[in-house]
Amino acid sequence: MEIILAKSAGFCFGVDRALKKVYDGLGNEPIYTYGPIIHNTQVVEELASKGVKVIHDLSELGHLPHGKVVIRSHGISKNEQDLISSSGFGMIEATCPYVKTIHKCVEKASKKGHHIIIVGNKNHPEVTGIKGWCQQPVYIIEDITQIDEIPFDSNIVYEVVAQTTFNLGLYQEILIRLQKLNFHVIINETICKATQERQKEALEIAKNVDVMLVIGSKHSSNTIKLYEICKEQCEHTYHIESIEEFELKVLNGHSVIGITAGASTPKKLIKEVISNVRNAE
Ligand code: SF4
Repeated sequence: MEIILAKSAGFCFGVDRALKKVYDGLGNEPIYTYGPIIHNTQVVEELASKGVKVIHDLSELGHLPHGKVVIRSHGISKNEQDLISSSGFGMIEATCPYVKTIHKCVEKASKKGHHIIIVGNKNHPEVTGIKGWCQQPVYIIEDITQIDEIPFDSNIVYEVVAQTTFNLGLYQEILIRLQKLNFHVIINETICKATQERQKEALEIAKNVDVMLVIGSKHSSNTIKLYEICKEQCEHTYHIESIEEFELKVLNGHSVIGITAGASTPKKLIKEVISNVRNAE
């Protein structure tokens, strides 16, 4: 059996950087992450064993001992940032620099009076964070048909940004459609390079394998997108969180297995999958 492992599988720069910041911050003061630092239970549990607590709402700070709040790579809104700053708690800023660039972009565009179109999942924390830096009307769309719901006005300039992990092909389709409209639309290329490379590599591998395994949390937006991209190319694509949930007998009769993983999948999990797939031969 041949295994083709994506070079881009596993932690991206932003997730790696955020995790390092949490470990570097460990000391005498309590550390709180605003939301799980990554979509991986094992990593979150390991950090919990070192005293790192996850909070889900900033109101929780009102009854917690003072410490530092970690802003994860997805980033947060300006209001939330101001709330933490005024709470008396310290802040460990681990927003991915690529996400921070989008915050600055929409903030600057808003100051010019431009309206913002965010292409992404309206419930994703990165998108709600970006929305929170806009001071003008914001439209959040995630498919082409939703363009028709935007009340375009020829007196308004629209700036478009995408969630960093959005499907590149779909973003391009949406941009082509937006450019065909007779309105002033400024496009910003904000899908991160790491995501683009991961998606392109996954697509190429999925085209040439019998079975494709995509490893990562079922809550991880970038892993779900990887799965969707691979599934279009390879009928036998499986999204798994760990090897325990995968029926190895599915591999029987197949000779080439592709493996990729989302941006918050630890190397250890990827290695476990590879060694189990090898042993299944
Ligand atoms: S996927 Fe890209 S933008 Fe998101 S955290 Fe990783 S490097 Fe940053």
